Amino acid sequence: MNIILLGPPGAGKGTQAKMLVDKYGIPQISTGDILRANLKAQTPLGIEAKKYMDSGKLVPDEVVIGIIESRIKEDDCQKGYMLDGFPRTVAQAEALEQMLTQMSSGIDDVISIEVPNDELMGRLTGRRTCRNCGQGYHVMFDPPQKEGLCDKCGGELYQRDDDNEATVGNRLKVYADQTQPLIDYYQNKSLLRPIDGLGEIKEIFGRIGQVLG
Ligand code: ADP
Ligand code: ADP
Ligand code: ZN
Repeated sequence: MNIILLGPPGAGKGTQAKMLVDKYGIPQISTGDILRANLKAQTPLGIEAKKYMDSGKLVPDEVVIGIIESRIKEDDCQKGYMLDGFPRTVAQAEALEQMLTQMSSGIDDVISIEVPNDELMGRLTGRRTCRNCGQGYHVMFDPPQKEGLCDKCGGELYQRDDDNEATVGNRLKVYADQTQPLIDYYQNKSLLRPIDGLGEIKEIFGRIGQVLG
């Protein structure tokens, strides 16, 4: 079961991916999480990526393609995986297809979470993320039981540097220019499964479950 979660920043990809990991027992592969882990560890990759991330631009294709190529070859991906936040450009999608073909593998479904633009700013500026395990929350729509602390691991919640209004504005533009073309790309390959991303988090989880079985 090889799945792509597609959708604009704030659509709920990470939130749904974390629930799908438990349901299907396949790992979530988030290029954003991997880049942030590299930044935390102050690796050259992380330090380089930060420049792009802070301004809301995409990290160069070859960097994220390299990350994905080594990650999907790891043992825990044998039974499948969920790509969250990758691919984000047509060049990334083409590189993915090529590497999977070489592995005699392919993508089964592209879950496209649809949320109108005017909803996304509020979701992203209110997002809080666990410093320890990466679980996402929202100050209004999905608050933790104890303010500032993660329900899952007790870790400290923080606001991502790029979840401010100016950077979110750029990220939404970058999405429209560079990532939205992937909707047609996967539609043409009959892999696109559009999901209405408005409503309760659990409700949307149910909609995705209906598609994936
Ligand atoms: P993405 O990974 O697509 O950028 P996230 O899963 O991190 O999006 O969700 C962005 C923010 O919106 C988070 O704060 C999350 O708690 C919140 N959120 C997720 N799903 C919903 C929903 N269905 N309704 C309202 N808020 C949501
Ligand atoms: P969100 O959950 O809001 O969609 P992510 O955590 O997926 O955000 O991504 C944060 C940032 O990391 C992006 O704005 C971009 O700079 C970088 N990034 C993540 N994935 C990719 C990718 N596939 N290609 C290029 N840049 C990426
Ligand atoms: Zn946590």
